[in-house]
Amino acid sequence: MSITQTDLLIIGGGPAGLSTATFFARLNRPFTIYDSQLYRNANSPESHTIMAYDGISPAEYRSKIQEELASLYGKGGLGNGVFRNGKIVSLEKVDGRFEAIDDDGNKVSARKVVLATGLKDILPPIPGMYPYP
Ligand SMILES: Cc1cc2nc3c(=O)[nH]c(=O)nc-3n(C[C@H](O)[C@H](O)[C@H](O)COP(=O)(O)OP(=O)(O)OC[C@H]3O[C@@H](n4cnc5c(N)ncnc54)[C@H](O)[C@@H]3O)c2cc1C
Repeated sequence: MSITQTDLLIIGGGPAGLSTATFFARLNRPFTIYDSQLYRNANSPESHTIMAYDGISPAEYRSKIQEELASLYGKGGLGNGVFRNGKIVSLEKVDGRFEAIDDDGNKVSARKVVLATGLKDILPPIPGMYPYP
């Protein structure tokens, strides 16, 4: 079990979380980003309306952003950032700071938190409508 002190905790490693990380890396501020790897567009083979990358797979797009973060802002990683695969299972404010616990029991103490946890599609069970057969 570890305890991490950081400026910003970003919960979510999709485009919204990675975009937040890019801004924070540019400011050279420490951040920790958590990604439970459940993406809204997980079933989609291609992403469209992404400028300069139309048709790219969602996984490749995320990986390109991570590579860019490491190469432009990295000092052996994502700028001043720490990237973790895992789920935040609790979050509370204690004495002016946010305290989060992940699913391995590690603790993160942060000044600010960005919730970039995405959306879940709840569609009516109509045959032929994605994701139903
Ligand atoms: C079938 C389909 C096709 C789509 N096609 C396109 C397209 O072509 N072009 C386009 O622009 N958009 C498309 N979208 C929309 C696209 O999914 C969203 O624009 C994009 O994924 C939103 O990014 P996000 O970062 O907000 O959320 P997501 O990509 O869903 O990321 C959410 C992140 O939060 C994490 N998370 C959630 N809870 C926790 C927790 N407790 N702890 C740690 N991590 C957590 C998840 O693991 C994930 O990393 C499509 C959506 C669907 C369903």
